[in-house]
Amino acid sequence: MSVTPERSVRRKVAYVLPVYEEAENIAVFHDAILEATAGRPDLDFEFVYVNDGSRDDSLDRLLALRADDPRVSVISLSRNYGHQMAVTAGLDAVGDADAVIIMDTDLQDPPRVSMEMIGMWEGGVDVVYAQRRSRQDSVFKRSTAWLFYWTLDRLASIEIPRNVGDFRLMDRKVVAEVSRYREHERFLRGIVAHVGFRQEALLFDRDQRHAGTTGYPLKKMLKFAANGILGFSTMPLRMISRLGFAISGISLLLALYVFGVRVLDPESAVPGWAFLGVGMFLLSGLQLIMMGVIGSYLGRVYVEVQDRPLYSVALAARGDRREESR
Ligand code: UDP
Ligand code: MG
Repeated sequence: MSVTPERSVRRKVAYVLPVYEEAENIAVFHDAILEATAGRPDLDFEFVYVNDGSRDDSLDRLLALRADDPRVSVISLSRNYGHQMAVTAGLDAVGDADAVIIMDTDLQDPPRVSMEMIGMWEGGVDVVYAQRRSRQDSVFKRSTAWLFYWTLDRLASIEIPRNVGDFRLMDRKVVAEVSRYREHERFLRGIVAHVGFRQEALLFDRDQRHAGTTGYPLKKMLKFAANGILGFSTMPLRMISRLGFAISGISLLLALYVFGVRVLDPESAVPGWAFLGVGMFLLSGLQLIMMGVIGSYLGRVYVEVQDRPLYSVALAARGDRREESR
């Protein structure tokens, strides 16, 4: 526990802004965030853009922003590590801020909402997560998201709020705790929920992407969903044995039935090959599914045991420092 000095110093709020091929959005986004933050001249702001291995000219545009405004920091990862890792790299960089706001850079998360978050934080809330009152996404995305949260709700060992992305504000103490979670297959919103402290929702309307296409195609979405469930629940593992018991119970009943037929009505006993065939397929199918479940957890264990660094930074430009690995 730390002893807080009476603060007369200015408080600092850092934005962590993951960027993956957002060249057409960066300028518009940055203008929007400047406009929003201009309303609070009493706070110091830092804008930490994390370039997640974009192949377009996002990085150049970010460095151009930095040339105009020293409050802009740019971290560029050595390749595309995915949104969750980009945000992690940003969070690792901003340990000195009093609060950190994570936000998408495609203008789906409106910058003005982040100012409301700051208000709630000043009122003593440690985590303000933005909860979507409405969203402009496709029916497919909405229904898969619903199904995912429904499943997670039933399986996970923690309560992860619905309709909440990574758009959120975290107090510095929460950021410090989150940074201690070094798992490789990351599901950040689960980690934040796991950390605790005072967390509250702020309702907002999620806009449409300003330009470009989503960086979350179906494959990335499925991996993300699997990380959410596998990372925060061992329920699928435990379900294996439940299913085993259930099937054994049914087989026992069947055995009793067959025995009954044999004793009471031996004439009607049929060879029963169809039943055997169906049963065989059903059981081998179930076994394969269950082996897959075990494999999923084993895979995670393997990745954690390897304990590789989470990401590599190719360029870090912050304040008046600029480090590049060549
Ligand atoms: N993003 C990233 N790495 C990726 C994919 C996306 O840093 O591999 C960033 C992207 O630039 C955006 C945010 O993460 O700021 C959310 O991505 P996107 O808008 O593509 O996801 P969606 O809103 O469709 O879920
Ligand atoms: Mg988006």
